[in-house]
Parts: sequence; structure tokens; C-alpha cells
Amino acid sequence: MLEKVQMGERRFEDYRGIISDTLFDEVVRLGKKLRGKRILQINATSKGGGVVELLRPSIPLLNDLGLQAEWQTLEAPQSFFGVTKHMHNGLQGDLLNLKPSQWDTYENYNRQLAEQIDPSKWDVIVVHDPQPAAVRSFMGVDGEAKWAWRCHIDSKHANPSYLRHFVKYWDAYDGAIFTMAKFVPPGYKPKHLGVIPVAIDPLNPKNVAMKTGEAKTIVESFGIDVTRPLVTQVSRFDPWKDPLGVIEAWKEARAEVPGLQLALIGDTAKDDPEGSVILKAVETVTVGEPDVYIIANRADDRAVQAFQSHSNLIIQKSLREGFGLTVSEALWNGTPVVGGAVGGIPLQVIDGKSGFLVTSVKQAATRMVALLADAKRAKAMGQYGHELVRHKFLLPRMIRDDMQFWLELLAED
Ligand code: UDP
Repeated sequence: MLEKVQMGERRFEDYRGIISDTLFDEVVRLGKKLRGKRILQINATSKGGGVVELLRPSIPLLNDLGLQAEWQTLEAPQSFFGVTKHMHNGLQGDLLNLKPSQWDTYENYNRQLAEQIDPSKWDVIVVHDPQPAAVRSFMGVDGEAKWAWRCHIDSKHANPSYLRHFVKYWDAYDGAIFTMAKFVPPGYKPKHLGVIPVAIDPLNPKNVAMKTGEAKTIVESFGIDVTRPLVTQVSRFDPWKDPLGVIEAWKEARAEVPGLQLALIGDTAKDDPEGSVILKAVETVTVGEPDVYIIANRADDRAVQAFQSHSNLIIQKSLREGFGLTVSEALWNGTPVVGGAVGGIPLQVIDGKSGFLVTSVKQAATRMVALLADAKRAKAMGQYGHELVRHKFLLPRMIRDDMQFWLELLAED
């Protein structure tokens, strides 16, 4: 049920020159302090979604830095992921409650997971998101390992019926890490709190600068007319990413900017059974719209990057968001972002500087039109955003903060 994810090797040395020397040296120094420490990270899937983007590069980098890091994911039936998607939504504030039998499905699976983990083999165990969150509460108190719960969700407005269960699960951990301090839900006081925004990997092929011509060719290969303006959202097909709101905003903007095209790029993660339902809804409302391109499970990393760099602007019109790696990816590519003023998006979209923050369809449309009308301003915003990401949202900064947090946990009795 727990599967080790196999990965290639990475060298931290390759980040020299991309990040500041100070940060580079700090990461190396922390790596020496943690030399030999055995770190296990557990999440729901190795395919799709932001957590995968973080773990895939950081595990081999931690090994290169001298730690013994491993990544394991869940092998679970779709019925389990159906329940955990409700939990994800409930922790984001959705009102739908779970039936007792669904809680049983969840707890039984986590109880089985607990049997597979030998805590004496690890110094630190980091558990990501709700799917495996209960596992710690089914383990004994023995074993040297320190346990951290890593929350990637804005759970400030969590549905109380979910919180009642989750606070019990979370209390079993030695510490918790949230992307922003304000995401910590009411009634939960972690023994040790870490506030660590996530980050993008500048050496992921999707983030390595692409020549304008190459981006154009790739975008064109999806049928897009590269002589006309294009706006894109890259996101799982999920109600909280508001793809239907994006379509509405595009329609309003197109009334002002004739010929405006929209691309919706998304994949359906294994742990997200809601994806196909939302995708169908998106397809239904865009029937007969030749200028909307729905690119589902067809865009590889380079294609995602081509759209992020070629589009006139990127939309991330989320209604709830943990961090929104897609925002940093777009800005790193020098493309401004019109983003929902929620979750971690305002950390990255500085209103009027790296893009615009919006709270409605109407505002999204107005801001899109303004940016499409002023290419010079759009370019300046993209450049501002690129520098912002360089300073704050590249992977080595997150690795530094994680390592610092583990050291603090290990220093406790
Ligand atoms: N992504 C992708 N292909 C897609 C859709 C998304 O590669 O079709 C990537 C996207 O580039 C980003 C990640 O998946 O790196 C999504 O992370 P984000 O934090 O934006 O959202 P999450 O899915 O974790 O809510």
C-alpha cells in the first residue's frame, strides 16, 4: 500500500549561480548538520498536482546534500480517494459532510498504513495533506522518529465537522507546517508550527527558459493561432480553481478584445476523482466555441511551459488556493498573472506589480483587458514577477526552510 517512488539523481551544485551564494551556502551548511538523517516523506500520489512538483526534485537533492531521504506514496482504491477528495474540500470549507461509513473507510485505510511504517527506521517522517494524515494517530508512541504534518491547503475556513476529526489526527504529530500562518484552522494549536511557502524548481524542464520561437511552435501545434492574443489557465479540473469562472471572464474580455483565445490546460491527478466531472462541465459550456482550447492530460512539462511563456497573460482564478505553483511558474517565465486574491496567490501576485488580484469574474475580465491593451506594462510586470520568484520562491529556499524546521524538531526532547 505504501510504494517507494524511484527517482534519478540531482546535484545541488547545479543551483549555484541561479540562487544567491548566501542561500547556496546556507543550504549546504544545514545539509552538513543533518548529514545521515533519515527523512521519509509520504503523500498521496506520484502523479499530478503541486506536491509532486515539490517532492520529485527535493528528495534527490536532499540525498545529494548528505541526508537519506525517501518518498513513498499511497496505493489505494478510487473509493478511498473519493472520500479523501471530500476531506480536501471540507478542509477548504465545503459544507458537504461525510457519512460515518466514509470516515470508517478513511480510518481503516490509515490504520493499515500505520502497520507498514517502522518509525525506528526514520529520524523525521513528513506526512503531506489529508489522505495519510490519520496514520500518526494509529501508531504507538515508541520509535525515535519526529513526525510532521505538512498542510498544503488553506484550511482557515475548514468545515467544523471535518476539523473535529482532523484535530485529533493532527495532535498526534510533533509539529505542523503550513504555507501561511493564517491557514492554521481555528482550534488547532500545533506543538511546533512551521510557516513555509512552497517553491518551484528552476531546473525542472518546464521552468528552464524557452526560446520565443520554440514556445510559439509548441503552442501552435495545439491548434492555437499565434498571431492572435491568448490567455491560459493551467490547473487541475477542480471547482476551487474555478475553470467555469475563467470561461465567463474570458467571454467578457473577448467582447472587448475580439479574437481573444483561451487555453485551459489540466491534468487529472490519481487522487482527484472529481477531475473528470469538472472536465465534462467545462467541455459542455464551451461546445461551439472554436477559440477555447481544452487541453486535458495532453500537455507535457515543455508544453505547459510553452503556454506559460507564450500567453499574453496567465489566469489563476482560484476561489481557494494553497500556494498555486502555477503562478510562480508563469512569473518565472516572465508572464504576468491575473489571480484570485486567495490563499498563497497574493504572496506572488503583488497587485499592480506582478499582475492583478481579483475577486470576481467581472474584475478578472477588466484586468485581463487592461493587460492585453498595454503590452509594455504586461512585460514590466512579468519582469518584476521573475525577480520576485528568484528571491522568494525557488526550491532551494524551501529546502532550507524545511531543513531548519527538521533541525528544530530533532532538537526537542
Ligand atoms: N500541472 C501540469 N500539467 C497540467 C496541470 C498542472 O504539469 O496539466 C502542474 C503545474 O504546472 C503545477 C502543478 O501541476 O506545477 C500544480 O500545482 P499548483 O500548486 O498550482 O496546484 P495544485 O494542483 O497543487 O492544487
